[in-house]
Amino acid sequence: FPSPKQSSPINAVPLSRLRWRLGIGGMSRDIAAGSHVWVGDSELAWIDGIVINVYGAEAVIQTSDGRMVTTNLSKIYPKDVEAPAGGVDDMTKLSYLHEPAVLYNLATRYEINEIYTYCGNILIAINPFQALSHLYDVYLMERYKGAQLGELSPHVYAIADVAYRAMIKEGKSNSILVSGESGAGKTETTKMLMRYLAFLGGHAAAEGRTVEQQVLESNPVLEAFGNAKTVKNNNSSRFGKFVEIQFDKHGQISGAAIRTYLLEKSRVCQISDPERNYHCFYLLCAAPLEEIERYKLGDPKSFHYLNQSNCYELVGISDAHDYLATRKAMDIVGISEKEQEAIFRVVAAILHLGNIAFAKGEEDSSILQDDESKFHLQMTAELLMCNPQALEVALCKRVMITPEEIIERSLDPLGAAVSRDGLAKTIYSRLLVNKINVSIGQDPHSECLIGVLDIYGFESFKISSFEQFCINFTNEKLQQHFNQHVFKMEQAEYQNEEIDWSYVEFVDNQDVLDLIEKFRTLMKRLLYLQNQWQKKDSQEGGDGGDPSYMFPKSTHETFAQKLYQTFKDHKRFVKPKLARTEFTIAHYAGEVQYQSDQFLDKNKDYVVPEHQDLLSASKCSFVAGLFPPLSEETAKSGKFSSIGSRFKLQLQQLMDILNSTEPHYIRCIKPNNELKPALFENVNVLQQLRSGGVLEAIRVKCEGYPTHRTFTEFLNRFAILAPEILEGNYEEKVACKWILEKVGLTRFQMAELDARKGKVLGESAMVVQK
Ligand code: ATP
Ligand code: MG
Repeated sequence: FPSPKQSSPINAVPLSRLRWRLGIGGMSRDIAAGSHVWVGDSELAWIDGIVINVYGAEAVIQTSDGRMVTTNLSKIYPKDVEAPAGGVDDMTKLSYLHEPAVLYNLATRYEINEIYTYCGNILIAINPFQALSHLYDVYLMERYKGAQLGELSPHVYAIADVAYRAMIKEGKSNSILVSGESGAGKTETTKMLMRYLAFLGGHAAAEGRTVEQQVLESNPVLEAFGNAKTVKNNNSSRFGKFVEIQFDKHGQISGAAIRTYLLEKSRVCQISDPERNYHCFYLLCAAPLEEIERYKLGDPKSFHYLNQSNCYELVGISDAHDYLATRKAMDIVGISEKEQEAIFRVVAAILHLGNIAFAKGEEDSSILQDDESKFHLQMTAELLMCNPQALEVALCKRVMITPEEIIERSLDPLGAAVSRDGLAKTIYSRLLVNKINVSIGQDPHSECLIGVLDIYGFESFKISSFEQFCINFTNEKLQQHFNQHVFKMEQAEYQNEEIDWSYVEFVDNQDVLDLIEKFRTLMKRLLYLQNQWQKKDSQEGGDGGDPSYMFPKSTHETFAQKLYQTFKDHKRFVKPKLARTEFTIAHYAGEVQYQSDQFLDKNKDYVVPEHQDLLSASKCSFVAGLFPPLSEETAKSGKFSSIGSRFKLQLQQLMDILNSTEPHYIRCIKPNNELKPALFENVNVLQQLRSGGVLEAIRVKCEGYPTHRTFTEFLNRFAILAPEILEGNYEEKVACKWILEKVGLTRFQMAELDARKGKVLGESAMVVQK
C-alpha cells in the first residue's frame, strides 16, 4: 500500500485486486493490460475502458465507445468493476474515492431516480426536474423521524432530522446550508426542510393559525415578491435568505425570523427577453376585476417595466390563481388586509411610475412627455398618496444647498428617467423588509434554533459585475466555513479512532478573502473621495453636489488602474492582456473575469433626499413607514453608505450565527441546463461538484484513509486471500491483521470503532488506507 502522502490515482487499488497486483512490480504494477480504468474525455469528462498495453509511463486504452487512447498512467484511474449495479448511497462506501468514481456513482443513481447521495455527512441532491411525489410522502416523514443517518436512503428529511435531534440532545443551535447554482433546487430543498421541521416541531392539535403555518406560508409570499423567471430558472430567487426557526424547550416551534440578502434591484426597471420581472407584478395584473379597476391596471404589455421582454406568462402557471394564493398566504403569515392592500397599491404605483416618460424642456430641463405620462404621474401620486406636483419635481429636479443659497437644478430627460428608476428600485426593495418578520414574531425566550440558508451559488458570466462580486465573496466565505468544518469533522473522526492524521494538508482560501477585503476598502475610499469632491464642487457653486450622478468614465479607468497597481503581485488577481477595466479573480471555484466599469456606481447605496422627503410625507402610513426620517446627523453629513459595506456587515452577522451553530450541508446540483428530466451532463455536474466544495471534501478524505470497512465486511470480501484463516475459531480483528500481513500490506490502520459517534456496531472495525 502506498504512503498516504502519495496522491497518484493509480495508488488507489482496492484489496480485491491484490492477487493481480502482487504479480507486477514498480509504480505501474497497479495498472496493467486488462485493467479496467477511467480515462479523461473532452465530452464525457471520464470514459471507461480497458488497458490494452502499458509502455513505461504510458498506457494504451480501448475505451468503451471503441476508441484507442494513449495516455500517461498518472492520468488514469482504476475502475471498480465490482461496484453495485445501482451505485452506493454514500460515496465513502466506494472502493475508489476519486473523481470519475464519484461522477459515475451519481449518474448511475440518477438514472434510477435516486437523486440523493451522501458524501459522508454532506447530502448531494440532484434536481430531478420532475415531480417525484413518492419521495416526499407524509408517511416517509414518519419513517425518517428519529432514524439514524444512513439507516434509510439519503434524504433531505434525514438531514433535517439529524439537525433537530442534535438540537434537542445537545441544546445547541444547528444550521442547514443549502447551496448550488441557479436552478439546482435550493429553494425547493429549503421548503422540504422547513416542511419536515414543521412536522417535527408542529403543534398538532393547535387551533387557528400556528407559527409553523406562518413559517411555511412565508415561502409563497417571499417568492411572489423576490422570485422571477430567468433564463436559468422559471422561479429564480433573486435574493438570499436565512430562515431561523426557533424552538422552545419542548422542541416545538415557537417563532421564526427571516433575513434576506442582496435583492436584485435592477430587475424592477430593467429586464431582457425572455426573462420576467418579479412575479408580483404579473400576479397583480391578473387580480380580480375590482382591483384592476381600482389600480387602473390592465394588460402587462402596457407597462414599460414589463414590456421590455416578450415573456409575460409562465407555462403551467396561472397568475390569477397565484394572486389569490399569495393573498391567502399573506393572511396566514399575519399581514393584515389593510397592509396587503397597501403593499399591492405600491406595486401598482411602481408600474405606473415606470410609464412616466420625459421629453426635453427648456434648456437642459425635462417635462412630462405627453398626456399619458401625466396620467401615470397622477396615478402614481394617487397610489402612493403623495402630492403629484411634488412627485414631478422630485423626478425632474435636484435641490442643492450651498452656504449662500439654495439652488434648484433641472435634470435632462435621461437624468429624470434615471431618477424615476432609482425611485422605483428604492420603493420596491423596501416593500417587504421586516414585514414578514414583524408578522410572524420571534420568540425572545427561545434558546435553540435551526437556521436554513438558501443562498445564491457561485456565479460566473460573460460579463460579471459588482453583483457577482458580492455573491462570489459570500461563496468564498461559506466555502471557508465548509472547508474548516469538513476538516474538523474528519479530524474528530480520526481522533475517535485514534488514527494518525497529522499529514493531511488543509488548503484555505483566506488569501482570496483578504484580496476581496482590500478591494472593498479601496472602493470605499473612492466613494469617500467622490463625496468630498462633490461637496467641494457644490460649495464653489459648481454643477456637482448631486450624489445621484454616475461616476464619470475617467473615474472607472482610474479605478481599474488603481486595482492593477495595488494587486499586481497578488497571485489570485490577474489583469487580462489588453484589458482597460476588466480584471480576473482566481476564486476557489474557478477564475471569474469582472468588468469593473459599474462597480463604483453599483456600490452606492443612496436615497435622493427629494425622494426621501416626498415619500416620508405620504398620507399613507404604510408608504411613509418605508421611508422613516433620517437622523439629523446622517442627513447633515450626507454620508454615503455603500452596498458593499452593508452587505459585508450582514454577511459577518450571518457567519457569526453560523459559527455558533452545528452546520449540515446540502449541495444541490443541476444536471443539465435544459431543465429536463433524465438528462445528466457529466462536465456540467463535475464543475458544480468542484465549485460546491464536494471534490475538496473528497480530497481531504483521500489524503487520509478514505475507505472504512468493518472487520466483518472486510473479512466477507477479502478472506479469500487467506482462506485458511477462516478454519476454526478466529477473532475478527486478528484475522484481518493476518490477511493484511500475509499479502504484505503495511499502510493501513486499525481502529476500534465502538466509540464511533452514536453508531454502535457491536463489533470492532478497521480503517484501511487503500
Ligand atoms: P435559484 O438560485 O435560481 O433560486 P434554486 O436553486 O432555488 O435556483 P429551485 O427554484 O429550487 O432552484 O428549483 C428550480 C426548479 O427545479 C423548480 O422550480 C422545480 O421545477 C425543479 N425542482 C427542484 N428541486 C426539485 C425536486 N426535489 N423535485 C422536483 N422538482 C424539483
Ligand atoms: Mg431559489
